[in-house]
Amino acid sequence: LNEKDLIQKYFTKDLNDSSVITGIGDDAAIVRPKSGNELVITTDTMVEGKHFYNTAPAYGVGYKLMASNLSDIAAMGATPRWATLNLTLNTLDQSWLEKFSSGLLDCAQAHNVVLIGGDTTSGDCINVSIQLIGEVPINKGMLRSHARVNDNIFVTGVIGNAASALHYLRQSNFNHKVLSSAQNNALYKPPSRIEFAIELRDIANAAIDVSDGFLNELEIICAASNVGAKLQIEDVPYNHDIDIEHAITGGEDYELIFTVPDQLIEQAILLSNKHHCSIANIGKITSTKIVEIYQGNNRMLYPEYSGYDHFQDTK
Ligand code: ADP
Ligand code: MG
Repeated sequence: LNEKDLIQKYFTKDLNDSSVITGIGDDAAIVRPKSGNELVITTDTMVEGKHFYNTAPAYGVGYKLMASNLSDIAAMGATPRWATLNLTLNTLDQSWLEKFSSGLLDCAQAHNVVLIGGDTTSGDCINVSIQLIGEVPINKGMLRSHARVNDNIFVTGVIGNAASALHYLRQSNFNHKVLSSAQNNALYKPPSRIEFAIELRDIANAAIDVSDGFLNELEIICAASNVGAKLQIEDVPYNHDIDIEHAITGGEDYELIFTVPDQLIEQAILLSNKHHCSIANIGKITSTKIVEIYQGNNRMLYPEYSGYDHFQDTK
């Protein structure tokens, strides 16, 4: 199997998407965006030993790679359209490739994303990266920087499912056989908030996806918007298999935090019901410029560490 055959065999699917003028096979792809839209572009990488272990299911690695990119597109309120894949492999393991590509393309297909190109190289460990391009009507993208004082802070789904599953996996020395299907989904098949987010863009002032720790993302929204937050900890839906501090600082939830003014709360709830996407009102945006955590009326001690940072030990 050479490079060309590998691409043909595992990554080239018959597609009939009229937006793709030229897909895989030429020097570069050509796509036609919808008129009146802006392009929304993101990329996310997963490195063996960092983001996944060699015991991880290849299907799950492929699925999650696409899902983590989708989560960024959802956070902007955009519709995902086209993806490119950069693949660095250490061995040509066809069974791994078969499963990896199935997971990736299943997730893509479920969200009408077309794989339009990529690059394939060899290297010391597996490194997989997707660039995902979406569309959003002009000026409609949700930004981190648009939270307003007195906005209500919402979060989708449940926080800490992935952190809880990872904790369990660590204790069993990364033996994936011990995972329940819920734990497996939490790690490798995160929820999609795309459909919900596309309508949310007409309601929310600001949004961010939760990939590197809930508390960390809340801090980022506040810093970007030059505001603070008052968080009611008992209102945060979290996975009770771990303690709350761990849940709100662990990574890879792929949920959304968004802010909504009082008069649009009802609409947010209607949208949540329509898309079967649970949401919780967990606090308020304040003018203090700091994130304060409350339990009832009592201010809680702030965790020392709010989320994941690849370089936090390299001062
Ligand atoms: P070039 O050498 O001109 O960069 P390549 O041989 O790298 O071209 O790629 C040939 C075609 O296959 C291109 O259309 C490229 O986008 C596509 N391609 C390469 N690797 C991948 C991959 N991992 N997934 C999807 N498409 C790929
Ligand atoms: Mg190339």
